[in-house]
Amino acid sequence: MDWKQSAEQAESKLISDLKALISIESVLDESAATGEAPFGPGPKQALDWLLDRGREAGMTVKEVGGAAGHIEIGEGEGLLGILCHVDVVPAGDGWETPPFEGHERNGKVYGRGAIDDKGPTIAAFHAMKMVKESGIPLNERVRLIVGADEESGFRCMKRYFETEEMPEIGFAPDADFPIIHAEKGIADLVFSQLPGEDAGPLRSFPFRGQDEHGPGHGEGRGVAF
Ligand SMILES: [Zn+2]
Repeated sequence: MDWKQSAEQAESKLISDLKALISIESVLDESAATGEAPFGPGPKQALDWLLDRGREAGMTVKEVGGAAGHIEIGEGEGLLGILCHVDVVPAGDGWETPPFEGHERNGKVYGRGAIDDKGPTIAAFHAMKMVKESGIPLNERVRLIVGADEESGFRCMKRYFETEEMPEIGFAPDADFPIIHAEKGIADLVFSQLPGEDAGPLRSFPFRGQDEHGPGHGEGRGVAF
């Protein structure tokens, strides 16, 4: 099996799939939420679109409460989870080409979600497709778990794991994979500092159990700004 050749053959389909997924404006819209589309029509449409690609490829597909779903290949007890998401944050300003179209420039595809997380999601899906089409039998299962609310609080994963099996192992190819390979939730943090004589810029803070002497002393070990 020549995987590189197989990937090259899949390239144009991968790019057209990515553009199609980018073209779905999958931004959270709670004002338009329904029981079937708890995060609004955009995220639901993107989820449905991807699950349809899974059905088309002959994979096992399940939609979970309009919030999430999965696409699976293989047989067996073991389960590997690949965690992805199809929702995106609002487009914002400053785009050179429309954010919800997917334009190619200099060998790159530009659009909201091209990196986070529609690109990695489509890449993972096509990798699974290549394995399936190779005919190599799998004695474990590989499951692409797709969320529709990663950007706004992970309610998709909360809902998914209320009823679905937890994989024994997994990874999350989100945005700059493989640097980003795992996610355990989302945190909105506000850093503040009381005015005072020693008040300097907030530069770093140590992780618990390491250096606890305050800004400056934990540099290189905590998070630096
Ligand atoms: Zn992401």
